[in-house]
Amino acid sequence: MMNIKAPCSSIDCKGVGVFSCIGCRQTFCHKHSYEHHQELSKELQAISVQHDAIHQQLTATNPVHPVQKEIDEWEAKSLSTIKIVADEARTQVSTTLTENNREIMKDFALLTNELGVGWQTKNYVETDLNKWRNELSKTQQTINSARNMYLDSRDTSLPSINMIKIKFNNSDKFGEIKGSMQLEDHGRIVSHSGSYDSHSSVYGTKLYSNGLHRILIKIDKMHDNYWIFFGISSAIMPMKSDACLSRSAYGWAATSNRRKFVYLNGVLTNGTYAKYNEDIRKGDTIELTLDCHKKKIQLLNERTKQKYDIYVDGRECPFPWRLTTTLHHRGDRLSLI
Ligand SMILES: [Zn+2]
Ligand SMILES: [Zn+2]
Repeated sequence: MMNIKAPCSSIDCKGVGVFSCIGCRQTFCHKHSYEHHQELSKELQAISVQHDAIHQQLTATNPVHPVQKEIDEWEAKSLSTIKIVADEARTQVSTTLTENNREIMKDFALLTNELGVGWQTKNYVETDLNKWRNELSKTQQTINSARNMYLDSRDTSLPSINMIKIKFNNSDKFGEIKGSMQLEDHGRIVSHSGSYDSHSSVYGTKLYSNGLHRILIKIDKMHDNYWIFFGISSAIMPMKSDACLSRSAYGWAATSNRRKFVYLNGVLTNGTYAKYNEDIRKGDTIELTLDCHKKKIQLLNERTKQKYDIYVDGRECPFPWRLTTTLHHRGDRLSLI
């Protein structure tokens, strides 16, 4: 019986395949099986280089970002502007005082002279004393009026210094609507446009399946500080006007009501979850963090600095997630910042 062997998979090799690779299912002759393994080891080397580079980024004692250089530059430029303006103001004060004193000295020198003569000759009477007293008093008044300066800290004719703040790129927008809502500013703003109060929902356009993402939402209007839902739901689930109650919904409702609205897979819980405190008001900015890796969402109220976490059940809310908000009162309005 003839032993049928496959030819070597290497191009142009006339040899017989004796080793087969279980990774790519190709068969190689002795020489090319060695070369094939060499190629794999080169690829592993490239992976190790990339791994080490990422490891270095993660373990750096002082992690760097280009924005740090911008902060330094802003600081240096602002300090130099402040220094120039302060120096000019100081110079102006001292020059004015010196010039005034020189001017007043001209008349004062006459009095100094008269007093000297008075001491020497002892020829003075009450009228002289009164005259000198008057002159001293007038001189003091002149000095005081020349010192009539104050600091105007609201002058707008000088270069002003704008304060800085770190912001995160937020490319999410309000998109699909269920109910009565109106989008403005290319999906950056959403408002309840119904003629009566009812649940209406809007979904974000961006889908999240991995990584860490921050979404900043400002509450422009919230009737009676009562109720607006912020959270996520799964993009593979159907959309509905009461999105907070859909099976995959997780999140919180802003309220000043004593009732604490926390929604876990579309169910309103008693609100004690993660010690949620009803501390969100009109005008507040909410930072929503979606951590796909840890399957966790976080709500931070920028004003109160209070943070709340919700762990998301991946079976109830499979990836991709999307931003989900529900408004109830007509006129209520949110904007993405
Ligand atoms: Zn192979
Ligand atoms: Zn070969």
